[in-house]
Amino acid sequence: MKLPLAFPFYAIAQVKPLPTPFSVPIWQKPQTASAFQSLVQAPVDVVIVGGGFMGLSTALHTARLGLGVQVLDGGEIGQGASGLNGGQVIPGLKYDPEWLLEHFGPERGQALVDFAASTADTVFDLIRDEELAVPFTRNGWIQAAHTETALKAAGNRDRQWRARGADVRLLSQSEITAATGAQGYLGGWLDRRAGIIDPLAYTAELARIAAAAGASIAERQKAVKLGKEAGLWRVSTENGAEIRAKAVVLATNAYTDGLLPGLAETIVPLHSFQVATAPLSSNLAATILPEGQAVSDSRRILVYYRKTADGRLVLGGRGRMALPRSEADWAHLQRALVRLYPALSDVPIEKHWFGRVAMTPDHLPHIHEPEKGLLAVVGCQGRGVGLMSALGKRMAGYLANGDANQLPFPLSPIRPIPFHAFRQIGVAATIAWYRTLDAFER
Ligand SMILES: Cc1cc2nc3c(=O)[nH]c(=O)nc-3n(C[C@H](O)[C@H](O)[C@H](O)COP(=O)(O)OP(=O)(O)OC[C@H]3O[C@@H](n4cnc5c(N)ncnc54)[C@H](O)[C@@H]3O)c2cc1C
Repeated sequence: MKLPLAFPFYAIAQVKPLPTPFSVPIWQKPQTASAFQSLVQAPVDVVIVGGGFMGLSTALHTARLGLGVQVLDGGEIGQGASGLNGGQVIPGLKYDPEWLLEHFGPERGQALVDFAASTADTVFDLIRDEELAVPFTRNGWIQAAHTETALKAAGNRDRQWRARGADVRLLSQSEITAATGAQGYLGGWLDRRAGIIDPLAYTAELARIAAAAGASIAERQKAVKLGKEAGLWRVSTENGAEIRAKAVVLATNAYTDGLLPGLAETIVPLHSFQVATAPLSSNLAATILPEGQAVSDSRRILVYYRKTADGRLVLGGRGRMALPRSEADWAHLQRALVRLYPALSDVPIEKHWFGRVAMTPDHLPHIHEPEKGLLAVVGCQGRGVGLMSALGKRMAGYLANGDANQLPFPLSPIRPIPFHAFRQIGVAATIAWYRTLDAFER
């Protein structure tokens, strides 16, 4: 049966803004994570609001280029999406190379293709070169196809990246079954450039080396006011601190609040929920993802999963739009887990948590500079581990020498999504609709 794909995604929506869940417990938080409380008094070159991959990578590389940097985070380092994510380090954007070339033209398009191809390298090179204490594997990412249509799309993607020398290949049904141990896939696509990291360890290590490079980092310093004074930006925090700087970078992504009017209205923040099983027995671990790849499936409301360094299976997917009320809000992920791996029906779920991802209407990250020296980056589309690490490095180059060609994406005006105030209803309806379509295709 052929089903319609479209639903007016951003058409209608929300009632009240989502609260920022700074109080959500982070179950993986390592005992050794140090608190950052370094606040400068004198003016600095750059204040970065947000201490996730984007903010910390920008801080690291900006400090290494000799600029004075202050990072402010409203919560703890790692409490945003960067510490909570699925740990899948996947190169590329939502779009394939030919689309990027067609839409951005040969020059900018090619630069974007090269940038997109390099984002996973940025992470793994940093882990290697800086000897970061980050558990990782680099055996690739599988995009698992559950329909003929998805298989065709995988073939198209494979052709485009292989033509550009990427280490990728298609998987037959028997190959994907052997690689995942999961039920229900017709085949898939293996991208060997990708891998897995422990996201919280990576965030903490980025903060450590950014601080070692000279960046000041302060946790629990929520920026509440932006102003300008005698040619300098002034950022005021909830706790009464004031930092003056030549430039400000808002690296708040899906946790963007009202600090810069209109910015939060350019994205749709969605919740991604995850569950982690108890550590698997050696028998189960030998049949589930034996080579340690990460997987995302091809459903409209997709699930993604991987094994952790301590032997758990972690699976994530879309969660409710509002904040969760009880453990029952993760039940759909447990069902997905057992659908893929019936042998896990008796294995307890020991952890569950969630974080926020930022979607933009064109599914691309947006970089804004509404006034000289005031920059904002939003819209990771749920694929920000490599992307934001690499973008932070480029942002540092731009801050240091002012050459906008350093940035892979063009600077764009802040354009609030029409009827943004109603987004929650619209997105929830879209998700329900997509789930129905997915169910028909099982
Ligand atoms: C559950 C989940 C799973 C995901 N899985 C993957 C995956 O497997 N692979 C992948 O590539 N991507 C994944 N992503 C996306 C990825 O985690 C993000 O794209 C990335 O972490 C974004 O980094 P960031 O630095 O831009 O934002 P964040 O890490 O969210 O950092 C933003 C920071 O801004 C701070 N902040 C906000 N407002 C203020 C303020 N006013 N003052 C001070 N600080 C403020 C917040 O406290 C937060 O720490 C996932 C995301 C989630 C939520």
